[in-house]
Amino acid sequence: MGKLSQGFVEALKALVGSPHVSTAAAVREQHGHDESMHRCQPPDAVVWPQNVEQVSQLAALCYGHGVPIIPFGTGTGVEGGVCAVQGGVCINLTHMDRILELNPDDFSVVVEPGVTRKALNAHLRDSGLWFPVDPGADASLCGMVATGASGTNAVHYGTMRDNVLNLEVVLPDGRLLHTAGPGRYFRKSAAGYNLTGLFVGSEGTLGLITAATLRLHPAPEAMVAATCAFPSIQAAVDSTVHILQAAVPVARIEFLDDVMMDACNRYSKLNCRVAPTLFLEFHGSEQALAEQVQRTEEITQHNGAYHFSWAKNAEERSRLWAARHNAWYAALSLRPGSKGYSTDVCVPISRLPEILVQTKEDLKASGLTGTITGHVGDGNFHCILLVDPEDPEELLRVKAFAEQLGRRALALHGTCTGEHGIGLGKRQLLQEEVGAVGMETMRQLKAMLDPRGLMNPGKVL
Ligand SMILES: Cc1cc2nc3c(=O)[nH]c(=O)nc-3n(C[C@H](O)[C@H](O)[C@H](O)COP(=O)(O)OP(=O)(O)OC[C@H]3O[C@@H](n4cnc5c(N)ncnc54)[C@H](O)[C@@H]3O)c2cc1C
Repeated sequence: MGKLSQGFVEALKALVGSPHVSTAAAVREQHGHDESMHRCQPPDAVVWPQNVEQVSQLAALCYGHGVPIIPFGTGTGVEGGVCAVQGGVCINLTHMDRILELNPDDFSVVVEPGVTRKALNAHLRDSGLWFPVDPGADASLCGMVATGASGTNAVHYGTMRDNVLNLEVVLPDGRLLHTAGPGRYFRKSAAGYNLTGLFVGSEGTLGLITAATLRLHPAPEAMVAATCAFPSIQAAVDSTVHILQAAVPVARIEFLDDVMMDACNRYSKLNCRVAPTLFLEFHGSEQALAEQVQRTEEITQHNGAYHFSWAKNAEERSRLWAARHNAWYAALSLRPGSKGYSTDVCVPISRLPEILVQTKEDLKASGLTGTITGHVGDGNFHCILLVDPEDPEELLRVKAFAEQLGRRALALHGTCTGEHGIGLGKRQLLQEEVGAVGMETMRQLKAMLDPRGLMNPGKVL
């Protein structure tokens, strides 16, 4: 039970019911870490509210007693966002998993925080609509809002920042905020400050997101996917830049270096050439697809591509993308027992070839085990570095490599994180990225919404 008094735990139970409160060590451990290498820091208690009224009452209770509050989605984050660095109450939102409202004519849906991206798309299957933002994991949609997530489709459909219309948020003191006004789901607005944008990427540090109104998209009429191997990283990334500069409306364009490709072949039983590779997908009418494919083949051939392999039927396509989504686990399988640390820099697209080529050279020189994979259509890529959690020296070398890469991205007018967030590990880089006035503004916003500093303390700032 840690630092909480028996009386406080009884008050939690009175609010949500005894079965929905746990102080068991195993449960607290399970909630004290995410998928990253950040060390487990368990909360003092875990609660599962059933509705927004309970979330509001829980927040007010914790706030009144000076107890930290840590929102928990599905725990698939990779920046230590759920680690309870000061203890406190973890609010696990997975029991609130209803799809509250579907507005097919207006391309929008309202979901509770426990709904995952796969559950939403399963629900939409026969509607002709889908929600395209796809981090590899089956994350909760409100967790995705909280981290500003994206994935393989962002080059065409945008990130969470582009696909959230409204949020219901329980503020730290228990008050309920509707960031775009209660019940609204318009496509554009010039009404006041962008409160919705403030909460996208806030990583649980400003409030608990208890419902999200999301923008849906028409399901594509036809799709085709392909893999294309290249003699060098430079050739693969030059092709990416040329495809985008030629305004080919590619839906997905993902890069895997030779080590990542090899790991995916083994882990997901693919049979791709072991070389720097692009995974691509095109969406549209049959006629539009033919044009996009032809233009892409011309560009890649011009850059010396070895081989273009098409996946036309749904089964082949999903095998390919399942392999891509499992790249994290494929990388981890290169050294069983290791933990992963993923860098996440994002640079202007024209600077991508130089930073990727340099990063591969640095990785070879570092002696670390790592793969490179990236949402290169957005200028965003990850080095997945493998680390023995029991080896402090290796841990330091991984952190030093990640910081150096972050600084290189900043020097190229980029960001230290395209989609994973700041969490615990990138707070220094955030300061370098936004500067003193930027940090001061963020701190003032945080202090105004959370004057006691109890919402997911120790993260972001
Ligand atoms: C195999 C794998 C592949 C991945 N690929 C990608 C990828 O391609 N792109 C990408 O962007 N990410 C990726 N991720 C990271 C992860 O899936 C995303 O960060 C995701 O958005 C986290 O959602 P979650 O529900 O698991 O959040 P959690 O891990 O539970 O929480 C993450 C943060 O959000 C806060 N939070 C969670 N829910 C709420 C809420 N309702 N209200 C307020 N704060 C909340 C938490 O306090 C924490 O700070 C990947 C992870 C894995 C394991």
